Amino acid sequence: MKFPVRKTAILIFLLFILLYNNISGKEIDKLKIKFIDYYYENGSPLLWEIRNDTLLRISLLPDYQSTTLNRQTDHWNFRIIAEPGTRIRLTIEKMLPDIYNGKPASDWWNYPKGIPCYLSYDYCEWIPLTTRTLRGKELYLDFTMKGAEVYLTRLPVYSLKNLNSMLAAIQGRKGFEIITAGKTTEGRKIEFIRSGDRNVKFTVVIRARAHPWEPGGNWVMEGFINELIKARADNRLKDLCFYLIPMAGKDGVARGMTRFTPSGMDLNRGWDKDFDPVLCPENYVLDSLLKDLIASGHKPSLVIDLHNDDKGDIHLAVRDKGDVKFRNDMQQLEKLMREKGLFSEDFRYQWRDANQTSVSTIENGILLRYGIEAFTYELNANWLKGQGMIPSAMEWKKMGAGLLNVLSEYFSR
Ligand SMILES: [Zn+2]
Repeated sequence: MKFPVRKTAILIFLLFILLYNNISGKEIDKLKIKFIDYYYENGSPLLWEIRNDTLLRISLLPDYQSTTLNRQTDHWNFRIIAEPGTRIRLTIEKMLPDIYNGKPASDWWNYPKGIPCYLSYDYCEWIPLTTRTLRGKELYLDFTMKGAEVYLTRLPVYSLKNLNSMLAAIQGRKGFEIITAGKTTEGRKIEFIRSGDRNVKFTVVIRARAHPWEPGGNWVMEGFINELIKARADNRLKDLCFYLIPMAGKDGVARGMTRFTPSGMDLNRGWDKDFDPVLCPENYVLDSLLKDLIASGHKPSLVIDLHNDDKGDIHLAVRDKGDVKFRNDMQQLEKLMREKGLFSEDFRYQWRDANQTSVSTIENGILLRYGIEAFTYELNANWLKGQGMIPSAMEWKKMGAGLLNVLSEYFSR
């Protein structure tokens, strides 16, 4: 049987295609990096690309604020599945530069101590690695896989699972009550923890995790609560009643977002007016708690909002420069924070300026509307100056225990 030349050429071409596909198929099977997984609670939306066998490029997606241009990308949490012993060289980048207060950010991830990335083989113990910031502001890291899969995150993970274990540990405990105050945008429960008699002299409100990428506040809150359990057991702190909101931005934590809620709300903005219960239930319930406490004669003496940022300071509300009592109070508080709270950054004062409107952050809004002293406590996400180390969950828990001792002494004056 004779084949015409044209048909033979076509046949050879098809055979070649078949053979080539088989070879590439085999090559794909041989890749050392097998998969990048972020399809789990707190996993961050991202794009990934294997550049050659062991070079991995991760591009992070921002989340956006409603009705503004603002967007931010600071959270990552993903799992690399690869052959044990594989050397991974990895870059992490923001797909789009951040926009903050309406202006494009010009610098990020370029702090002197570097940006840490945390590794875990069991999703429980987090090992800090220092990254290097490349010219295009990508973070670069290089490590060897010690197992078949490894989790990489921006900060030691504190997710809904951690929160639920903490709540289970205090459920039914004497001196503690867990109150379901409402539901988040996506219908998750918003829990308040009350500890202490409502009728005592001082009420203090502490909130954590308004911004999903910032788990430091959760670790501080956990250390604070552990110390509070001991204090209640010993019948100490009789003059103090606490309302603790352990995880305000729960939806964003579950979805692995950076800053906003799924309806595009920034929980540390808009405190100069009432909140819409549908668009922003997370703030609406806290604002309602403050109103109820005031109406029932239990006006809080202090509100603290726990955050992470790249600097780590305490941001005080806008005040008049001549407010001597406020200055004295804050000097005492600062002294205690340094002595007992493991605090090593700065107290940042904002003095009233007739030509400038203040930002509608929680501390400014609460002082302005209710006359309640408040501050935002930013925990440094990159470096603990006092301890001379990269932050860890353990150190943040110690800072939480310290914070309780600070407040105990501050209010016993
Ligand atoms: Zn924040």
